[in-house]
Amino acid sequence: MRQYFETYRGTRKSHYWCDKVLSGAITAMPGPKRQHIELRFAAYLVKAGEEDCWSWSGPITNGGHPTLGRGGKGGGQTSARIVAYRLATGDNPDREVLNICDRKLCLNPRHLLLAGAGKSKATLQKRFEAKVQKSGPDECWLWTDKPIASGYGKLSTGHDSSPILAHRLAWQLANGDIPEGLFIKQRCGNRLCCNPAHLYLSLNPIDGPEVSARAVEAWLRCRA
Ligand SMILES: [Zn+2]
Ligand SMILES: [Zn+2]
Repeated sequence: MRQYFETYRGTRKSHYWCDKVLSGAITAMPGPKRQHIELRFAAYLVKAGEEDCWSWSGPITNGGHPTLGRGGKGGGQTSARIVAYRLATGDNPDREVLNICDRKLCLNPRHLLLAGAGKSKATLQKRFEAKVQKSGPDECWLWTDKPIASGYGKLSTGHDSSPILAHRLAWQLANGDIPEGLFIKQRCGNRLCCNPAHLYLSLNPIDGPEVSARAVEAWLRCRA
């Protein structure tokens, strides 16, 4: 290879790269396929609003995850999420990088998280917030992911545990654990609403907010 670059040194076009290669600064010739991985990454990234999902127009694995060639023949593939994480944080992750919005092709660094943080409350909160469309304090904050058959939003909590309903999680994140056996209902009647100001505790699925408030207070007092 060295001979190749010595031969071509002096032709205007390749002069810069010849010098770099001969000085040992780089070991592979750049070209359409050998562009720096960060540059190729940027070309495939489809950015959107800060809180939106950023999509990927580049290659994907059989499993549907964004991927990039490391560059060079036989260099193999690397997860595009790893490149996104490195570009955003400056750290080279030593573990798998997951996305908290559960959209496999999303590469918004705000939606990426190092694996192993697992099912901690902070992780759950981040994943929750990535899927809620927050608006004014009095307005409904809608769950943006596909609802379950009953019309409520849900969030998975890991392989072994059952999913949690989005509005129940919203109440929990705002107020702490839900007393055992109690319902969380929306005073606005919108089952996708996760605004804590629209949520209230209830002893049954029928009572409205005022009746529920009195009943729950009495019930909690009895139990205390
Ligand atoms: Zn996302
Ligand atoms: Zn609401």
